[in-house]
Amino acid sequence: MHSVILQGEFCPVRVGKILCLARNYVAHAKELGNEVPAEPVLFSKPASSIVGNMGSVVIPACSQDCHHEVELAVLIGAVGKNVTPCHAMELVRGYAVAIDMTLRDIQTQLKSKGYPWDLAKGFDTSCPLSEFVPTAAVSDPHKLKLGLEVNTVMRQSGNTECMVHRIPDIIAFISRVFTLEPGDIILTGTPAGVGPVVPGDHMRAWIENVGTLEVQVQ
Ligand code: MG
Repeated sequence: MHSVILQGEFCPVRVGKILCLARNYVAHAKELGNEVPAEPVLFSKPASSIVGNMGSVVIPACSQDCHHEVELAVLIGAVGKNVTPCHAMELVRGYAVAIDMTLRDIQTQLKSKGYPWDLAKGFDTSCPLSEFVPTAAVSDPHKLKLGLEVNTVMRQSGNTECMVHRIPDIIAFISRVFTLEPGDIILTGTPAGVGPVVPGDHMRAWIENVGTLEVQVQ
């Protein structure tokens, strides 16, 4: 069982599914040479991929090119199916800082063959997550600066206002196909500046009003 902390709650929250958006910031889609999709592009990570603040990312031996992607994580707190965008935010219980660790070389190989990305995106420790803050701590989740440093050098710096698909639309889109349940987590995509890390590197990711997340790379 994998769980996350929601600040102010006594009990940890058991994690269900982790659904992630690809190419949800124009500048990032372009830096990888991808089209910006008209509809959200989704993939998932298993709950076993989570590692907490001050934990370690362990790069699997099969990869020589592991990238960081800082992202706003959304914690779902209620059941939702076929939710409309105007009611979607009622499902949200909190926000956290996430890093969508990606084996870029493996992902590129899989993409070229048209295969799923699971090996590149769902490996153990591929989902560093900070503690969640309650929704009340964030007045507007689409106006948050976010960034990531590697060894104190700024690599990513963006703002959630640049999301292509916004959280209500993402939740509505997902809930047409997946029933959202308490403990589910949505990763909302990364701004530009993704890049490699190697064993020994230290990552520090942050989102305004949400928190910071520090992880060591092994
Ligand atoms: Mg990502």
